Amino acid sequence: MTQYIPKHKKKAIVNRLMQAGIQTMCPMCGGELNTLIDGYVVTILQPHINKYQLGGKTLPAVVMVCGKCGYIRQHALGPLKLLDILQEKEGENGKTE
Ligand SMILES: [Zn+2]
Repeated sequence: MTQYIPKHKKKAIVNRLMQAGIQTMCPMCGGELNTLIDGYVVTILQPHINKYQLGGKTLPAVVMVCGKCGYIRQHALGPLKLLDILQEKEGENGKTE
């Protein structure tokens, strides 16, 4: 199965989240919110509420999921200074070029 986020990048993301002091206890069930989903979520920001356009400004994020209840939490890459991770080019096999 193709890895969307290579292992070394996942490690860097988790390290930065921990450095930021995130809580890993799930606010819904008290379980561990420590599973980083293998892929980025990119929300496309819209200039209007009654039209939908592709492209333009985005809000890239990573997703953590509670292993017990499935609660989903997103962390924007910008404030965590994680955007540099996206700047690296990756080949189809996920390896950094
Ligand atoms: Zn939970």
